[in-house]
Amino acid sequence: MTVSREWLEKDYYAVLGVARNASQADIKKAYRKLAQQHHPDATKGDKQAEERFKEISTAYDVLGDEAKRKEYDRVRDMAASGFRFGPGGGPGGPGGTRFEDLGFGVGGLGDLFDLFGEGRAGARARHGADLVAEVEVSFEDAMAGTTVPLRVTGTQPCQTCHGSGARQGTAPVTCPQCGGAGSVAVDQGFFSLSRPCPRCGGRGQIIEDPCPTCAGSGSTTATRTLRVKIPAGVEDGARIRLAGRGEAGPPGAAPGDLYVAVRVRPHRFFQRRGADLLLTVPVTFPEAALGSNVKVPTLNGAVTLKVPAGTRNGRTFRIRGKGAPKRRGGHGDLLATVEVEVPGKVSREERDLLKRLRDAGGPSPRAHLGTEE
Ligand SMILES: [Zn+2]
Ligand SMILES: [Zn+2]
Repeated sequence: MTVSREWLEKDYYAVLGVARNASQADIKKAYRKLAQQHHPDATKGDKQAEERFKEISTAYDVLGDEAKRKEYDRVRDMAASGFRFGPGGGPGGPGGTRFEDLGFGVGGLGDLFDLFGEGRAGARARHGADLVAEVEVSFEDAMAGTTVPLRVTGTQPCQTCHGSGARQGTAPVTCPQCGGAGSVAVDQGFFSLSRPCPRCGGRGQIIEDPCPTCAGSGSTTATRTLRVKIPAGVEDGARIRLAGRGEAGPPGAAPGDLYVAVRVRPHRFFQRRGADLLLTVPVTFPEAALGSNVKVPTLNGAVTLKVPAGTRNGRTFRIRGKGAPKRRGGHGDLLATVEVEVPGKVSREERDLLKRLRDAGGPSPRAHLGTEE
C-alpha cells in the first residue's frame, strides 16, 4: 500500500464533502456525483475543473478503499496528536504547516510506523540523543534514599568551543541559502513542501572555520561520572530522568536527557507491596495460644508486637507508619504476618509436655468434618 505525504496535508473527507464517519456507500455516492460534475468530458478543457477532478479521484482512491481509509485516518490522527515532522515542521512554523520529506510511499503499515519513528528522530535531531543507564541499590538504600556514582560514556559539549563547533574567536554564521530558516521550499506538482536546508542541514547556521578539537561537531566523546540522587522509597524498576544529561546535540542545540533505571536488590526478609512492607513473623504454638509480646524488626529499629492469646496462624498485624517512604511524604505500614511454627525436632521434655497437652483433651479441631466420635 502506498502512503502519500499528501495524506498529511489534504482532508479527503472535505474534498468529497462527506463526514468522517460516513459509510462506504455514502462515500461512493458522493464521489459519483462529484466525478460526474467535474469529469473532463463534461468540462471541456477547464483547467480548474480538471484539477478538481484529479483531487476527487485521489480522495476516492483512498476513502473508497476500506483498508486505505483506515490507514489514512490513522496517519492523520497521529499528525493531529502532535507528532512533529522534522525541524521547523508542524503547524505554526513559518509558511504554515510544513512536512519534512520522510520518503513516504515505500510500503505498508509497518514501514509507515518506521517512517514515523524516523520522523520523530528527525524532530529530535536538534537535540542530543537520550541516554539510558542502570544503577543497582540495596533495599535499605532504596528506602533511605542515597546518591550513587554513575559512569556515562557519550558525547558531551566540546570543551574547546563550548559546543559551538566554531574555532575559538569565531562564531557560526547565518546560512546564506535558507537565511537562517533551516528549510527550503520544494515544489512538488500541485502542492509544495519544505525540506531541511541542504547547506546547513536544517540548523540555519553554518560554521566557516571549524573548531580543531571537535572538527566542527561541537561535541566530543568522553566518559564522565555523575552523581545520581536516588529518592527515598524508590521502587525496583523506577526510571529517573535527568534532563539535559544525555548526549550533546549538534552545535547550538540542547543536549538529550539521561534516563536512569533503578534496580533494587531484594531484602533478606522484608518484601514490598506499594508503600507497605511485608514481614513473616514465626511464633511458637504456645506464644500464639497464650499470647506474647514479640520483637519484630522495622527499617529503623525493633518494635514490640503484641500477639493476643488465641492468635491463629496467618493472621496479619498492621504496624502503622513503619513501611516505605511515600513520594508525597509519610510512610506506608509494616504488615506482619504470624506463622505458627511446628518444631521438627523436640527434646524428651518437650515431647512429654506435648503429650500431656494432647491428652488434656479439649474439642477436636476436626469436629465440623463429622469424622470424629
Ligand atoms: Zn569544538
Ligand atoms: Zn540553511
